[in-house]
Amino acid sequence: MHLPVSDVIVVGAGIVGSSIAWRLAERGKCVTLLDAGGMGCEASWAGAGMLAPGGEIDAPSAFADFCIESLKLYPDFIAALESQSGTEIDFQQGGAVELALNAAEWGALRTRAETQKSLSIPSTVLEGKDIRDCAPLLRKPVAGALYYPEDSHVDPRDVMIALRAACLARGVTILEGWPVASILGNDGAVELVGHRGKLSAGAAVLAAGAWSGGIGVSVKGVTVDLPATVPIKGHLLAYSLPANELRSIIRHHNTYLLQRSTGFLVAGTSAERAGFDRSMNAGIVEGIRNRAEDLCPMLRKYGPVMPWTGFRPGLETPETDGPCIRRVPDSNVWLAYGHYRNGILLAPATARRVAEEIE
Ligand SMILES: Cc1cc2nc3c(=O)[nH]c(=O)nc-3n(C[C@H](O)[C@H](O)[C@H](O)COP(=O)(O)OP(=O)(O)OC[C@H]3O[C@@H](n4cnc5c(N)ncnc54)[C@H](O)[C@@H]3O)c2cc1C
Repeated sequence: MHLPVSDVIVVGAGIVGSSIAWRLAERGKCVTLLDAGGMGCEASWAGAGMLAPGGEIDAPSAFADFCIESLKLYPDFIAALESQSGTEIDFQQGGAVELALNAAEWGALRTRAETQKSLSIPSTVLEGKDIRDCAPLLRKPVAGALYYPEDSHVDPRDVMIALRAACLARGVTILEGWPVASILGNDGAVELVGHRGKLSAGAAVLAAGAWSGGIGVSVKGVTVDLPATVPIKGHLLAYSLPANELRSIIRHHNTYLLQRSTGFLVAGTSAERAGFDRSMNAGIVEGIRNRAEDLCPMLRKYGPVMPWTGFRPGLETPETDGPCIRRVPDSNVWLAYGHYRNGILLAPATARRVAEEIE
């Protein structure tokens, strides 16, 4: 196969790497996008797709600002992807309802909401009828509930289908089944070494999610000590319901429910350090089922249709400003990994930052 000489090679075709590849190609760069397996088959297939600073942020930080920035970019990101790919993306801006089941939880929620308001994350107190309007499925008595009007959700599988089409339309070369072992940076150029050979380019971006820490990077022959990654496995569970049963995301601690336009309802979640073990843990799935059906007993009538798992790209030593997005000093190698449980939310802002820097 004859490959074009690329300006940039992106390693990892999840939502982070693919968004970067697409945005670079829009800027006229010749881009190759490599993946060890299939494009968008890992965390970016598994993610629930909440775009929800309201559920993630409880203090000011660079990470908080980055989440809010990325959420603001989302409508344009989706519109551009839909028009360039010719595909539709299920993107819903129906807000989120955060529940408190007792007085202590309600007090904590209100305190957090005050901090969030100073960070431009708005919320309002919901009364009983309003709760049922936002979440007709919810029957549980609650001590209080907040509505976060700006929290949204997207189907990341739709996003990945659109990214493939948009990348191809912009001339990105997509190579799947191409695992990269190491990236060697040298004066103004990079060389990638993989099981299938070597590739050269002007620059490289390491965006291999939870696997990023296993790819060696060296600059002028010296190994670079990169932030180590750790896979944080998560289970999710789906139900098939008539559409429009949930207009908003429902959250209570680490239990959440959201519904795609098709009616497919996603219930989450868990977080385990289990290496890259892909097996389904029946006990964890049962736990998610119990929590989801406790919040919304009507789910029992339908019963779950399928569980799945994925590996969130965690950092062994979390950085205060969130994911690791930066240039390796004295090289044309960029890092874009460690988005942990917010990679779907953070893809637009990550892609913009990396594409601007490389340009
Ligand atoms: C259960 C669960 C629920 C989640 N819910 C949400 C949510 O609601 N909202 C949100 O924002 N985020 C959520 N996330 C997190 C989100 O899915 C991730 O942060 C995001 O998908 C990370 O994208 P990525 O492109 O960095 O990684 P990935 O999608 O994992 O992509 C990395 C790619 O790199 C490839 N790769 C690996 N090794 C190599 C190699 N050696 N050479 C070349 N390629 C390689 C892989 O094959 C893979 O395709 C969730 C994740 C899970 C698991």
